Amino acid sequence: MVSVVVVGGGLSGLEFAVALQLSERYEIILLEWGSSLRRHHEQEDSRRYPGDQRTRTWQSLGPEWRDGSGVKRRLGGRSLCWHGVVLPIEDYALAKWPEVWRQRLWRDGLYSRTAEHLGVQLPSNAYCLGQESDPVLAAVPQASAVRPVGQSSSDSKKEIRSVYSPIHALETSRVRVVKGARVNSVSRKNGALFVDFTTNSGLHRIKTQLCVLAAGAVENARIVCDSMGEPIEGRITDHLCVGVVSGRQEREVETGAGKSIRYLRWSDLRCNVFVQDEFTSRSDGIRRIVDVWALVEQDLAAGSPFFVSPAPDRADFGNVSIGTHVSIEDHQRLQIISRRLDAFVEAFLGVLPGNCFQAGVHYHPEPAAVRRVISGAADHLHYRVPLGGVDHEAGTLPIGGPVNAELGLKGFDGVYVLGPGVFPASGAANPSLTSLALSNWLARHLMCDS
Ligand SMILES: Cc1cc2nc3c(=O)[nH]c(=O)nc-3n(C[C@H](O)[C@H](O)[C@H](O)COP(=O)(O)OP(=O)(O)OC[C@H]3O[C@@H](n4cnc5c(N)ncnc54)[C@H](O)[C@@H]3O)c2cc1C
Repeated sequence: MVSVVVVGGGLSGLEFAVALQLSERYEIILLEWGSSLRRHHEQEDSRRYPGDQRTRTWQSLGPEWRDGSGVKRRLGGRSLCWHGVVLPIEDYALAKWPEVWRQRLWRDGLYSRTAEHLGVQLPSNAYCLGQESDPVLAAVPQASAVRPVGQSSSDSKKEIRSVYSPIHALETSRVRVVKGARVNSVSRKNGALFVDFTTNSGLHRIKTQLCVLAAGAVENARIVCDSMGEPIEGRITDHLCVGVVSGRQEREVETGAGKSIRYLRWSDLRCNVFVQDEFTSRSDGIRRIVDVWALVEQDLAAGSPFFVSPAPDRADFGNVSIGTHVSIEDHQRLQIISRRLDAFVEAFLGVLPGNCFQAGVHYHPEPAAVRRVISGAADHLHYRVPLGGVDHEAGTLPIGGPVNAELGLKGFDGVYVLGPGVFPASGAANPSLTSLALSNWLARHLMCDS
């Protein structure tokens, strides 16, 4: 038996653990900082559960990486609230990855196998390689899974379709889960690997042969810093996001209209544009609400400065600070994108939403301001989401930097790293198709190795 400790029971850690446990050669313990609050998916995490608040394990002085940011600690991590949008990283960004990863993801079929497992159809390879022209609005590929609901025998035949989470496969797996365990660091002594973690009852240590860090891009880097006892100085990215919500009175609901979400790609501006279209019936008629937003690549070299200083002793945790950086080039691109979004809305709805950079731009899509558009008190709302706000943080321990092409931590045999933190470049695509692909690849790689 090979012992493996997985750190973090979120999207990446759970996906890896449930894939690896298919081989009986592995004995897997998963250490999760949070508790087990729920197993079902909640869109946007709109309901509040005690102990399920967003926590920030970093300091940030400005609104970027502060307002609207933070990560929830719980078994399931963000797999319990993500939207399931799965898009492959565009070729211009994959060009910054080691060539072997381009080969694995596309030519060796890792993307297509992962997509099949998630029940989605990906845009064609030619599309992602930029050899096809950008499509007009297309349906967004969303990962979902059918799972049984209810515990009693009368419920046993009921099934629901919800956004995919590997937490459901965990229920029938051999993975041993320890909740309420925050990992401090990993160390090597006389050839053996040890993982230190803190629970309510104090500091604990377990011996293992392999350790896989999947605690999110920020915490993974903090753990590595405390394990090495050396500061980490690098960059972190998130997607930049600008959008506009517009409302218009309609005489009738369009045939076949419900709430829909579609997307298109503006590859010249390195962004994906999402369009959510909804018709609402009210006493004074029908109102159509269209929310159009762009997720825009932030290049790692132009990302925000990221600094971790190690903890003074092994029972403590290092300090993480994130400085804000939106480069001049990114600012200029955001302005062009905002103008193009307005022109898009004008063509789509037949109304001109005005210039985004006029007074009155909201830094978030604030619920009260959105409600004004829905009620008809206002026709448009422009917004920008601060960095850290779309939960696509990436690049803290990139492949080719501290992490090698086999996802191993350099200088630390037996320690592997997962999640968007290892992306050398994210492109405009939402990160999770690639995170899930990496988790499945590492599980297979270890199985083949042993
Ligand atoms: C509302 C929302 C919608 C989203 N929609 C999409 C989408 O449509 N498409 C997409 O691609 N992405 C989406 N994302 C982003 C996606 O959810 C994240 O990129 C993804 O969950 C990151 O996976 P992860 O495993 O690295 O982190 P997480 O899922 O956050 O898991 C990390 C886990 O590690 C635990 N942990 C942290 N520190 C420690 C420690 N020291 N010791 C032990 N455990 C620890 C945490 O409690 C957590 O359970 C969305 C995110 C949000 C919030």
